[in-house]
Amino acid sequence: MKMYNFNSGPSILPEEVYAQAADAIHNFNNTGLSILEIGHRTSWFEEVLHEAQANVKSLMQIDDSYEVLYLHGGATTQFMQVPMNLLDTNAQAAYCDNGIWGKKAIEEAGYFGKVAVAASSKDKGHTYINKTLNVPDDAVYLHYTTNNTVEGTQWHHIPDVSMPLIADMSSDIFCRPMDFSKFSLIYAGAQKNMGAAGVTLTVVKKDLLGKINRPIPPIMDYRKHIEAGALLNTPPVFAVYVSMLTLRWIIANGGLAAMEQRAKERADLLYNTLDSLPLFKPTVAKEDRSLMNAVFILENGELEKQFLDECKKNGMIGVKGHRSVGGLRISMYNALPLSSVQAVCDLLKDFANRKG
Ligand code: PMP
Repeated sequence: MKMYNFNSGPSILPEEVYAQAADAIHNFNNTGLSILEIGHRTSWFEEVLHEAQANVKSLMQIDDSYEVLYLHGGATTQFMQVPMNLLDTNAQAAYCDNGIWGKKAIEEAGYFGKVAVAASSKDKGHTYINKTLNVPDDAVYLHYTTNNTVEGTQWHHIPDVSMPLIADMSSDIFCRPMDFSKFSLIYAGAQKNMGAAGVTLTVVKKDLLGKINRPIPPIMDYRKHIEAGALLNTPPVFAVYVSMLTLRWIIANGGLAAMEQRAKERADLLYNTLDSLPLFKPTVAKEDRSLMNAVFILENGELEKQFLDECKKNGMIGVKGHRSVGGLRISMYNALPLSSVQAVCDLLKDFANRKG
C-alpha cells in the first residue's frame, strides 16, 4: 500500500523523481554504469551538477554574482560555516530567534563572534513570528529561518534591512516565488522540498566573502569551493542527482508560481478543516501559519494517541509532532498531492464526529 506521507523531512518526493533515480541506479543515461558508480570528475556528473546549478539559478532568477554550491554536512553545518566565513571574532551578527533551528544557528554563531538577537518569539513558545526587528547598525548580517519546521510558523514577507540578509530556507525553499536577489546567502538541506537527504544547497553572493581575518580550513571556506568549481572534494553524487531531478520536476510542473498555488490549496484545505473542528486546536497565530508544516494539538492526550493510531491504520505517517513540542504536525511539501490532504481532512472530520 502506498502511504500518505506527511513526514517533516526526509519527506515525500515526486514519483517521477524516484522512478528516474531508480532507473539511473541500474543504468545511468545509457552509460552501462549505475549513477552510484560514476566518478564525480566525469563529464557525466559535471552535466548533472551544472544542470542542478542552472536550475537553482533559473528558479531563483539570480545572476552570476551568485555561486551555487552543493555541500556536505546538512543545514546544521551551515549554522557553523556561515559565521566561520563571515563573522570576525570582535564583530557582531544579528539573528532572529523564532524556533529551535534558529536557536541552534545562534548558538553556533556564538563560537565565532558576537550575536545580537534581533527579535524573539520565545515569550509565546514560538507560536508566532516576531516581526519587530531590532538590528544593531554594525551587525555584519541578519540571519533568519524562513520557515520554522518544528513550530509551524513561516515568514510571509522578506525583512527589510540594510545589511546582508542570510536565510535558512531548509523547509520552505522553492515553495513560492520570492525576490531571492534580496539575500546574500541562502542555505537549505535538500531533504524536504528539493531532493533526498545527503546534500545541502548554499547559494552565496561572491562579494560577501573574503572580508574577515580568521584563517578558514579550506573545506569550510566557501571561496575554496567556488574556486574548485563546486568540486573541492567528492560530492554526494547520488543526492545531487536526485536534487537535479527534483528541480527539473519543479520547473516542468509550472515553477514556483505553481508550487505556491498548490501549497496554498493544500494549506487552505487543512487549516479550514482544523478551524471548523473545535476538537483540534492549531497552535500558531493565523497570519504566521506555515504553508509547509501545520502544527495542532488535541487537548486530551488520550484522544491524541487514539488519533495517531487511526492515522497509522489509514496509512498516514509523519503526523506526530516534533519531540520538543509534542502535539501533531502535518507536513505538506511540494510533492504532496492535494488528495493526501483531503484524505487526512476526511479522517479529522470523521474522528471529530465520533469523539467531539
Ligand atoms: N533548519 C531547518 C529549518 C530544519 O528544518 C532542519 C532539519 N529539519 C535543519 C535546519 C537541520 O538540517 P540538517 O538535519 O540537514 O542538518
